[in-house]
Amino acid sequence: MAVAETIYHDVLILGSGIAGLRAAVEIKRKYGEKVNVGIISKVHLMRSHSVSAEGGTAAVLYPEEGDSFALHAWDTVKGADFLADQDVVWNFVKLMPTEILLLDHWGMPWSRRPDGKIAQRPFGGHSFPRATFAADKTGFYEMQTLYNKLLEYDGWERYDEWFITNIVVEDGAFRGVYAINLREGKLYLFKAKAAIIAMGGGGRLYHFTTYAHTVTGDAYAVAWRAGIPLKDIEFVQFHPTGLIPSGILISEGARGEGGYLINNKGERFMARYAPQKMELAPRDVVSRAMMTEIMEGRGFKHEESGLEYVLLDLRHLGEEKINERLPAIREIAIRYAGVDPVEEPIPVRPVAHYTMGGIRTDTFYKVLDVEGKWIRGLFAAGEAACASLHGANRLGTNSTAECLVSGRITGLLAAEYALKVSENDVKGPEPERTKKEEDWVWGFLKRESGIPSYEIRDNTRTIMGKYFYVFRDGDGMATGLAKIKEYRKLFREKVYVEDKERIYNTDLVAALETANILDVALAVASAALNRTESRGAHYRFDYPKRDDENWLKHTIITRYAEDDVSITYEPVRITTWLPIERKY
Ligand SMILES: Cc1cc2nc3c(=O)[nH]c(=O)nc-3n(C[C@H](O)[C@H](O)[C@H](O)COP(=O)(O)OP(=O)(O)OC[C@H]3O[C@@H](n4cnc5c(N)ncnc54)[C@H](O)[C@@H]3O)c2cc1C
Repeated sequence: MAVAETIYHDVLILGSGIAGLRAAVEIKRKYGEKVNVGIISKVHLMRSHSVSAEGGTAAVLYPEEGDSFALHAWDTVKGADFLADQDVVWNFVKLMPTEILLLDHWGMPWSRRPDGKIAQRPFGGHSFPRATFAADKTGFYEMQTLYNKLLEYDGWERYDEWFITNIVVEDGAFRGVYAINLREGKLYLFKAKAAIIAMGGGGRLYHFTTYAHTVTGDAYAVAWRAGIPLKDIEFVQFHPTGLIPSGILISEGARGEGGYLINNKGERFMARYAPQKMELAPRDVVSRAMMTEIMEGRGFKHEESGLEYVLLDLRHLGEEKINERLPAIREIAIRYAGVDPVEEPIPVRPVAHYTMGGIRTDTFYKVLDVEGKWIRGLFAAGEAACASLHGANRLGTNSTAECLVSGRITGLLAAEYALKVSENDVKGPEPERTKKEEDWVWGFLKRESGIPSYEIRDNTRTIMGKYFYVFRDGDGMATGLAKIKEYRKLFREKVYVEDKERIYNTDLVAALETANILDVALAVASAALNRTESRGAHYRFDYPKRDDENWLKHTIITRYAEDDVSITYEPVRITTWLPIERKY
């Protein structure tokens, strides 16, 4: 079967989360109809995962009250355990305040202080209350505001419920994107002068995660298969407060508003681990403290799931404050754990929450190849990208913020690039590449029996949760990596898609997502095993210390052969602060 049709746009935006929408708005407000835009999303635009961001977006708004760019930059670099590139951090903190004000002008209902100014609250690892928020539904309102703004313009088109299977890079340039229109069951080729990969993170590499079921690491996998390097992909963030037993996020805003963590002795145990910041130490520190309490027998056990946990106590905040500042958290705890936080503490444990690493980019989110050269026409934004803002551990509220900043930068640069290139010069992939894509995608429907992708996916998640969680060690990770390779082989040889229809084939989508999970799992496991130190979210019992002499460097990992990877390293860009011991 031939590819049904080729679709052309000047700029393609892959993903419609905060990063993708912010990029689209930037292109439209700067260049209007001069640059035609296509936005592809595997779900309805407003179902992009960003709508679930809760707690806030970081920015320096009140220097006259004591905050500063230097303080925000320092908090970010220290939080990152010094693996952040400091030029990227400086750019970011300086661009952020404008983003908050732009959203405000475009209708964002920021929560307000009694004096009418935009309110901000404390967040982990930030030494000033700079989490700008709209109650505990910040991401939803940001998405809605960006979408409303975009509706003011013409010259863009949505492809909702189109599943991107691969992107193509040939001769050092972006050549195209393959996507299935799920409603039609047909594979299309998209050509464009430029593309922005804004396809989000990979939380669903794990069972216990805060992420939507759609967040399966597709961005990293399509880059990986196109030969694009991933950077620092071993650094996966475990947010301290995942609700037992579902993993739904209890926002750090709950601790920002004054919530305590307590163990089975009723102690506020953070006093032992971070006496100054207590519950508002960075996430890697709090997650390790919670798991230490649990491992030393001071936790609780959830009988049905077997999950061990500690408690998040909000009772002292009182009903009025909980209702005003944390209404969704109250609702989530009542609905999904049967616990009303006004009356009882909430059961929580560390949960897979964010991917610090991602597609290798330069400071301005241009995608780089193995040699560090820009892949012409290609950009990455949001959680998909790794410009090295978050290093080894992201601070809460810096992600939605990075989505805004990187969306704005990539939108602008992609549009400027597109305006310089003639449509006649846009080359698509070689015809054999398209034939290969069709064979791969529809080949899944040919096998008549075998193992469902769901089983392989579930087993992979179990391995990730067991060997690549808050605490890691060499033997465990080697076992985990071997298992991942075993599942990859099983997937290649036996995966079976029962539904043979082309139209809205969710069974096929699950198989494609499992392929993506397996590619990203291979990259995470290989990079993690290779890094013989503990830094930020990557903590190894067998190498418990940070090792700046040998490991103050970024991992660059690339696909070498089906199950083999190539790993190199590049220095961290240090412009302002040398590493010191991290204390909170
Ligand atoms: C519960 C929760 C709460 C959070 N709260 C906060 C917070 O308060 N503050 C903060 O800073 N950060 C927060 N984060 C992190 C933050 O929300 C995310 O990092 C951020 O929203 C990611 O946005 P994005 O635009 O990069 O990707 P997403 O919003 O995940 O969007 C990805 C897009 O790519 C599309 N896509 C993916 N794969 C494909 C494919 N194969 N084909 C087609 N389309 C595809 C999706 O459909 C979607 O449109 C939170 C995260 C979680 C899980």
